[in-house]
Amino acid sequence: MVEVKPAIGRSGRAHQLPSAGLRDARGRALRDLRISVTDRCNFRCVYCMPKELFGSDYQFMDRDELLSFDEIVRLASAAVALGVDKLRLTGGEPLLRRGIEELISRLAELRTPDGRKPDLALTTNGSALRVKAAALREAGLDRVTVSVDSLDETRFQAINDVRFPLARVFDGIAAATAAGLGPVKVNAVIKRGVNDDEIVPLAQHFRENGQILRFIEYMDVGASNGWALADVVPSAEIVARISAVHPLAPVAESRPGETAKRWRYLDGSGEIGVISSVTGAFCGTCTRARVSADGKLFTCLFASTGFDLRALLRSGASDTELRSELAGVWGGRDDRYSELRARIGEATPDRERIEMSYIGG
Ligand code: SAM
Ligand code: SF4
Ligand code: SF4
Repeated sequence: MVEVKPAIGRSGRAHQLPSAGLRDARGRALRDLRISVTDRCNFRCVYCMPKELFGSDYQFMDRDELLSFDEIVRLASAAVALGVDKLRLTGGEPLLRRGIEELISRLAELRTPDGRKPDLALTTNGSALRVKAAALREAGLDRVTVSVDSLDETRFQAINDVRFPLARVFDGIAAATAAGLGPVKVNAVIKRGVNDDEIVPLAQHFRENGQILRFIEYMDVGASNGWALADVVPSAEIVARISAVHPLAPVAESRPGETAKRWRYLDGSGEIGVISSVTGAFCGTCTRARVSADGKLFTCLFASTGFDLRALLRSGASDTELRSELAGVWGGRDDRYSELRARIGEATPDRERIEMSYIGG
């Protein structure tokens, strides 16, 4: 039953409230919400937070600029009422946010309109996972994704650029698995000439250890990584290289709007995923919204502006008003950056870009 109450919200858009079956301007539902809980990180991955730009004088957000846990829970609750059934905490490095377990336990109490617990996941560089995995699970986290771009210690440390040892991330993955946060997914960003020689070794390693590896095409997100199309290793090439050694077959989508295309090993030893953000735009089924740590709502990873939810929350807006605004922003959404980029074959120049560490990957 849809209760209809047309309104003009602070977003300036007319909308209906609450909108069961909410759709954007291209008919896409709102299903996933990625919440960045901090813009800080203890790594300086060269493709994400290069040291030259994120040096010791870099101005990260002040504590009072960050959304509080109360504010995050209110907005997640509004999103869940509108159809979101997947929440992912990210950053920066989300495990740096003090008290993250408390936030997780509060988010774990949310229920969708039909009474289900939303899927609660977290993306991390794994550096604090060894210590925190059990408490995260206890708090109600369902799954973790850990980023590992190389199996070579020297190269891994060169990529994170803070000399963080790979073995500690592996300990974190083991701790997450032992705590029941598995099967752990592992993200590897592949950049040509940097780690593309590790495509097969990475696949082999994580296959043997029971983790689901997902290869991510290097994206032109942000303005600091000096992206060039020539650096991208297309997913088709990744699949072909692995398949030549360990034959793969495609797996059907388990839910519409999945970012990763899945491939299974023909010998039954598991699967991999490829996220073709550059060569295979999936905007048509994109059901994701992102909230930055300071409460800006972005309806596309490549958006240059976000809607200020923090101002709304701090102006005393009611839950109904909050839901109505969210519905209004989503209802007006027309984003399809990757699709358009695919047509012109390169990153669109001359536009302000939001850094991945800010918007949350
Ligand atoms: N710090 C956490 C981590 O590294 O997992 C969470 C935030 S990080 C921004 C989320 C994901 O974005 C990571 O898997 C990272 O590798 C990926 N990422 C960052 N910059 C990227 C880029 N330019 N292209 C593709 N993936 C990128
Ligand atoms: Fe930090 Fe993650 Fe970005 Fe690396 S990819 S710098 S770990 S936020
Ligand atoms: Fe979604 Fe934007 Fe990525 Fe397209 S480019 S898949 S709309 S986040």
